[in-house]
Amino acid sequence: PDSSFRGRRALVTGAGKGIGRAVAVALCKAGARVTALSRTAADLESLARECPGIEPLCLDLADWDATEAAVGAAGPFELLVNNAAVAMLQPFLQVTREAVERSFDVNFRAVLHVSQIVARQMIAQGLPGAIVNVSSQASQRALRDHAVYCSTKSALDMLSKVMAMELGPHKIRVNTVNPTVVMTDMGRINWSDPQKSAAMINRIPLGKFAEVDDVVNSILFLLSDKSAMTTGSSLMVDGGFLVS
Ligand code: NDP
Repeated sequence: PDSSFRGRRALVTGAGKGIGRAVAVALCKAGARVTALSRTAADLESLARECPGIEPLCLDLADWDATEAAVGAAGPFELLVNNAAVAMLQPFLQVTREAVERSFDVNFRAVLHVSQIVARQMIAQGLPGAIVNVSSQASQRALRDHAVYCSTKSALDMLSKVMAMELGPHKIRVNTVNPTVVMTDMGRINWSDPQKSAAMINRIPLGKFAEVDDVVNSILFLLSDKSAMTTGSSLMVDGGFLVS
C-alpha cells in the first residue's frame, strides 16, 4: 500500500457492498481515516466490525437535503470516491420516469453535490485533494437496455472533466475509473444469464470480466500521489472492451 494514505481522511460512497466496500477496506488497511457512506445500516455495521476504525455514515444519496447535512458535518476530507450507483435496466421503449429520476439522482446529481460539499471544505481548509468517480465502460459504448445507465455514466465522465478543469487550480485532482462487468451484486443481477455474459466476454480482448481488486487497484492509484500529474482522465479497467 501507498504510504500517501496514512492519516488522510477519505469518504467512500456506496461502501456497503461490492467495489465501494473493498475500496473502504483497502484504504483503511493503508492507514487512511475512512468514512463509509451507504444506504443499508446492516452493511455498514458489518463493515465496521470487519475494519474497526471505519466511520459509518448511513444515508440515501437521492435525498439532497439529508446529503448536504450529513456529508457537510462529516468532513473535511482529502480523498473522495464517488462509487454509489444504481443500474435499472429497461428496454428503451419501456423506460420509466421513476428509473430516469432515481438513476440520475444517485449516479449523477449526488456525485455533483457530494463533490461540491467536499471540494468546498478542501478549499476552505487549504487541503490538496483527489476525487475518483466510478464510471463504466457503459459511458462510452451503447449497451442494450442501458439507455438510462449509459447516459448517467456519460454525464458523469463529462462532469469529471469540468470538475478537473475548475478544481485543478485548487490542487484537487478529479479522475474516473471505467470498469467492464464485475460480478458484484450489481453485476450478478444484470449479467448472470450465461448467454448474455458470454456475448459480452466475447467482446473483451482479455476474455474475462474484471475482478473487484482490479477496480480497487486503479482507484487507489488515482487517489495516490503516484498519479500526482493526472487529472481529467478516465482509466479503463475493461480488458480492452473499448478498443475492440
Ligand atoms: P453494488 O450494487 O454491488 O453496490 C453498490 C453500493 O452502493 C451498495 O452498498 C448500495 O447500497 C450503495 N448505494 C446505491 N444507491 C445508494 C444511495 N442512493 N445512497 C447510498 N448508497 C447507495 O454495485 P457495484 O459495487 O457493482 O458498483 C459500484 C460502482 O461501480 C457503481 O458506480 C457502478 O455503476 C460501477 N460499475 C459496476 C460494474 C459492475 O458490473 N458491477 C461495471 C462498471 C461500473 P444498498 O445496496 O444499500 O442500496
